[in-house]
Amino acid sequence: MRDRWLADGTHMQFGVLANAWKETVRDAMADIGANLAAAKVEVRRGIIRRTNDPAERKRMFTALKADRWAEDPFLARQMRKHWKRGRNRTHDQIVVRADQHHTVVDGRGRLWLAVPGLERRRMVRSPLSTTVAPTGTLRLILRGGRVEVHYQIDASQLRSSQRPCGEATVGVDKGYTEALTDSDGVHHGCGLGELLAGESDRLKERNRRRAKLRSIASSAALRGDHAKAHRIKVNNLGTVKRDRQAARHRARVRTEIFTAVHRVVDKAATVVAEDLTKSFAGRKTLGKNLNRRLAAWTKGVTAEALTNVSERRGSALVHVNAAYTSQTCHRCGRLGRRSGDRFHCTWCGVVWQADVNAAINILQRAGDPDIALHTPHHTVRQILQDRTDRHRARLPVQDSSPATPAERRANHPNRSAMSN
Ligand SMILES: [Zn+2]
Repeated sequence: MRDRWLADGTHMQFGVLANAWKETVRDAMADIGANLAAAKVEVRRGIIRRTNDPAERKRMFTALKADRWAEDPFLARQMRKHWKRGRNRTHDQIVVRADQHHTVVDGRGRLWLAVPGLERRRMVRSPLSTTVAPTGTLRLILRGGRVEVHYQIDASQLRSSQRPCGEATVGVDKGYTEALTDSDGVHHGCGLGELLAGESDRLKERNRRRAKLRSIASSAALRGDHAKAHRIKVNNLGTVKRDRQAARHRARVRTEIFTAVHRVVDKAATVVAEDLTKSFAGRKTLGKNLNRRLAAWTKGVTAEALTNVSERRGSALVHVNAAYTSQTCHRCGRLGRRSGDRFHCTWCGVVWQADVNAAINILQRAGDPDIALHTPHHTVRQILQDRTDRHRARLPVQDSSPATPAERRANHPNRSAMSN
């Protein structure tokens, strides 16, 4: 692509030095490649859902891998569905190669970053707000009147990566109030719910105010008072403060979730979790619902934290099929009722803490001989049902004798061994 653009003169219209646009093209191509790889992960799941025939699966996997998916109608359809359109980020970003920038310290100890400008041999210098010089390939982003300098660091150099992982095998269930609940009954990241609820309330209030201001501005414009409309737009409806607040909130949530995962890895050599990157088929967009969007984003961060921290600290992350893990009793395997943070098993006559019950079920799925990661939802239900029936056939007497009211009271969550 680079050679073609050099030959046909396309590069003349970019108005930047060759190194700048070449690096940016390389970066964009890498992005497209990553997008394609992410789509293939989804399509592989689609293939598993579509057929059980090993030969047919293999044929489709091979075609997908060799980029011959366009010839197969099913694969082509799947790729069209999952291969997201790329987003052009070149309007406010530029990529600077490692050997194209340097930093200098001025007389007052402040660090300055020098990058190539629009003219040959004329560097553009900006002061940095840190004393650590960025290294390697840089991505400079203009955001809210500031320059952000993004670069990669080796994760093994991070202090948190030096901490060893634990020795246990721990199941975790992701939550909304807490980031994670583990199978030992411990909650991690308990500030998450408050952070998300606070942000949701703040956004609702702010959007309400902005809508009001926008309507005042547009009616002023209709009256012909363009000066007023402009004043409101510039002074009250800007995006700089809004974007900074959003970034701060995102950083706080990430810290809460990453800290929670670190706590789990402190004691775990193996973390068993639901595959949180999996999206449910049928629900294509999240629409305008703020809470749902926040929840979906949080789920993504939790998935990222689990993978990232496990990799850095050397623990294993095992993904399991989480179908019905929040609806079955971990002790007897029967389907029960969940209401709020409690799970009632009518057969055992026990009330469990719902998240803890789910985390234990998730842990047990890791060794389940019948339920694999990609076993469909309805098959899982059938398997659970069959187990219960077998159990019932073996233990006819116990099955028909319900727990006494006294036993049930004793297992109230406030007093049960599971509550924490
Ligand atoms: Zn039970």
